[in-house]
Amino acid sequence: MNQLSDRINNLSTSATLAMAAKARELRTEGKDIIGLSLGEPDFNTPDFIKEAAIQAINDDYNSYTPVDGYEELKQAIITKFKRDNNLTYTLPQIVVSTGAKQSLANVAAAMINPGDEVILPCPYWVSYNDIVKLSEGVPVEVKTSIDTDFKMTAAQLEAAITPKTKMIWFSSPCNPSGSVYSKTELRALADVLQNHPNIYVVSDEIYEHINFVGGHASMAQFEDMYDRTITVNGVSKAFAMTGWRIGFIGAPSWIARACNKMQGQITSGANCIAQRAVITAMEANPSKVQYMVDEFKNRRDLVLNLLNDIDGFKTNTPEGAFYVFPDISSFFGKTFRGKTITNASDFSLYLLEEALVATVTGDAFGNPDCIRISYAASQEQLIEAIKRIKDSLN
Ligand code: PMP
Ligand code: GLU
Repeated sequence: MNQLSDRINNLSTSATLAMAAKARELRTEGKDIIGLSLGEPDFNTPDFIKEAAIQAINDDYNSYTPVDGYEELKQAIITKFKRDNNLTYTLPQIVVSTGAKQSLANVAAAMINPGDEVILPCPYWVSYNDIVKLSEGVPVEVKTSIDTDFKMTAAQLEAAITPKTKMIWFSSPCNPSGSVYSKTELRALADVLQNHPNIYVVSDEIYEHINFVGGHASMAQFEDMYDRTITVNGVSKAFAMTGWRIGFIGAPSWIARACNKMQGQITSGANCIAQRAVITAMEANPSKVQYMVDEFKNRRDLVLNLLNDIDGFKTNTPEGAFYVFPDISSFFGKTFRGKTITNASDFSLYLLEEALVATVTGDAFGNPDCIRISYAASQEQLIEAIKRIKDSLN
């Protein structure tokens, strides 16, 4: 008999992490898998950040940390928000967490009541849907397509709003589409929200620096949105620090206080050494990590060129993050090597088994016509992976 709670039984396994685990498993069986499933920079954490962590160990940072983060780190985050985003936050508005994932889970627990609707423009980052459901919220998916660069329009937002709408969650640059909302596009969404003063926005800006067009815009920059926007950010992506597990929010202080309370019962403050290292990361000029962004842009161009050479792949031009999200629906109904592709999950599984390339099905991101390819891998690996994909579909 299944003794587990309905809550856990109804929770999906993270598709990105599951695919990464599957690729690891196949590798231990001796299969030469190229992993393009996980959104994780393949760079090492920059030395100047590692040195700060070593210093922190030698300085005996080993005690429990304040639940919402070291004050010095929160100050550095405040300076970062001002410098990069022209956002003014004060200490009680910042909460440091164990990854932006925890920041998001805190916000859900703090804000969502059972039955509250949360608008998720599709494709959305894989975990939004389940984090919302865990708080007994109801995800409301707004479908977008490659024709609108996978962005939600003001009209679509307006049409999705009901008296039960509590929040909107989105990322820009977007995981998985790489789309970047311009200031004008964000303003159009904010204009819709003018008539709905009780709707809050989670603006997930964790890919802020990985932007190939420049000009990152934040929802909270609009005066009329500041008091109802939770700005989420972290160091996993731009600073290649996925395993260090530090994320943070800037938010109205009553929301930050609630997240602090939540975290105080669940994890306590984030890791002491990682927090000390992140002070250094936050104080650094973003130009220090530009070399990674430049390389991601080269890879984006490479991957787009190679994919567009395969019949049946339709791509947008991602302007940020490190993913492409090709529409592969033209393969549905076709049979290759005796295997019939009926949906994106079949396609992704086919690529894993026949091309030995790990990708993630678009279903996990709320778009069943696409797959996600992470190009956080070397150019050699990308060239080889796409060659294998092409061969497997011949
Ligand atoms: N938001 C988005 C859009 C992401 O892609 C990720 C990737 N893991 C996260 C949040 C969570 O990041 P982390 O918990 O590593 O800070
Ligand atoms: N955010 C990354 C991804 O989308 C890491 C995996 C995860 O946290 O789910 O692949």
